[in-house]
Amino acid sequence: MTRLIFLGPPGAGKGTQAALLAKDCEVPHISTGDILRSAVAAGSELGKKADQYMSAGELVPDDLILDLIQERLSQDDVEKGWLLDGFPRNVPQAEFLQKLLDQLEQPMDFVVNLDVEDAVIVARLLQRGRKDDEESVILTRLEVYRQQTEPLIDFYRNRQQLVSVDGNQTLEAVYADLKRLVME
Ligand code: AMP
Repeated sequence: MTRLIFLGPPGAGKGTQAALLAKDCEVPHISTGDILRSAVAAGSELGKKADQYMSAGELVPDDLILDLIQERLSQDDVEKGWLLDGFPRNVPQAEFLQKLLDQLEQPMDFVVNLDVEDAVIVARLLQRGRKDDEESVILTRLEVYRQQTEPLIDFYRNRQQLVSVDGNQTLEAVYADLKRLVME
């Protein structure tokens, strides 16, 4: 049973590492960003509402995201666990998640914080070339991260649920650290 939350700034390598580990642990990789991008591509109601926020690098409003995550964590394939990537993104989402996991009787193992320096983040994001990776949008996303998501580090540290991993290393080295941590 593996239930992990991945935390870290945009460009930390959360998505890549979460996907690799989810495969190893044979649990679904739940990325709210991926779910939202699919919704945008499909032109669904959710996608139409989310698109403007995502393009601007802002967070999609909580009322859209909370329903989405509740529904996702209630599906059958989470029986063996999950890896959350991109959720929670602010304190209200973390509080909601805590109640939801209690209710669903799905206690998490811990939160992995991928620690990455600013210079490394910007270089990686510019390289990636996703639609919301244009320089001005990157700066907004970093600012949103600092103001809304970074406080989650203390939120989880205070609850003794935080483990930090050095995300400045190569993809392979970060992956090796994560594997050691999860397989312990
Ligand atoms: P990501 O792929 O995790 O970087 O997410 C891409 C974009 O999707 C973010 O910049 C937000 O606009 C939106 N998004 C993803 N997850 C969340 C979330 N938990 N809360 C609000 N917005 C989110």
